[in-house]
Amino acid sequence: MNPTTQEILSSTTGITNFTITTTTTIGGGSMIASPTSAASSSSSAPPPQLSRYENQKRRDWNTFGQYLRNHRPPLSLSRCSGAHVLEFLRYLDQFGKTKVHIQLCPFFGQPKPPAPCPCPLRQAWGSLDALIGRLRAAYEENGGKPESNPFGARAVRLYLREVRDSQSKARGISYEKKKRKRPLPPPPAALSRPADGSYE
Ligand SMILES: [Zn+2]
Repeated sequence: MNPTTQEILSSTTGITNFTITTTTTIGGGSMIASPTSAASSSSSAPPPQLSRYENQKRRDWNTFGQYLRNHRPPLSLSRCSGAHVLEFLRYLDQFGKTKVHIQLCPFFGQPKPPAPCPCPLRQAWGSLDALIGRLRAAYEENGGKPESNPFGARAVRLYLREVRDSQSKARGISYEKKKRKRPLPPPPAALSRPADGSYE
């Protein structure tokens, strides 16, 4: 017999903490305190295997939370607007790895420049677009209301479109090619329930 108390504490944020305490039996003592015995009786489900998307979404959400905590002046999630999301996206640009040529650069519009140039590195449009999609879902999964979702704000959509167009020109890349030939816009009915959470 090797008594092992296992406490599974589930927080409301969906993050599961495991505390595994191994108790060595001394003198046959049978006093094992189990403060959360109620949890074991319900035989809670094993922790879900998270997909890459889910893992990335959680990381993104943590990054954004970190950003809010470091924000000056302090900024809470409930007061977060589309303008703050744009601020966040611009902040991320300093960690970007995609060369985006300025208009004065001789390589402007060249997908494969023959030489280095001092143009800035930015976050690629595709990365930002996917990021916003994940954060938008995470916001609602963490209790945010769809109608106040700052990641779905019009300003954010417009900004992403602008980044897409300007990077497309600067890098000489057509983003249209990557898309499937299904130019069907989402029906207006689908817009009333965007918080499905499923992206696949
Ligand atoms: Zn350049």
